[in-house]
Amino acid sequence: MVTWRNKAYLHDWVPQFVCCVCGESNTVAAHVGGNGTKGMSCKVPDYQTAPLCQTCHDRLDGRALPPLDQAERERVFWGMVECAGQFIADRLDSEVKRRRKFGQRKPGSRASQSPRLKMGERRRREG
Ligand SMILES: [Zn+2]
Repeated sequence: MVTWRNKAYLHDWVPQFVCCVCGESNTVAAHVGGNGTKGMSCKVPDYQTAPLCQTCHDRLDGRALPPLDQAERERVFWGMVECAGQFIADRLDSEVKRRRKFGQRKPGSRASQSPRLKMGERRRREG
């Protein structure tokens, strides 16, 4: 199994969000999905990260007291979901813009005549 790794996501994308537990603006991408097990970040894909300040990151991983309580852990989880969701939305948005700029089909081409054509239908016509 290949684990998704993306340095830009970890170092540029996630840290632009505030800490999802306390709102602190200086954050890092913290891997989510285990119980702070050592080496956990080796197994968790990079999209499974939430923006956390150093203090909250340490509390999540059990390096500082008190550890995050259940409500705080849920905020971390939803922070991760929001972060990944916005990343996908952003990528889709830039893909749409890229296609508008470079990928426009000429009027009258087969694709523009039948945009809702399914794969099977297109194959039948071409074949
Ligand atoms: Zn924090």
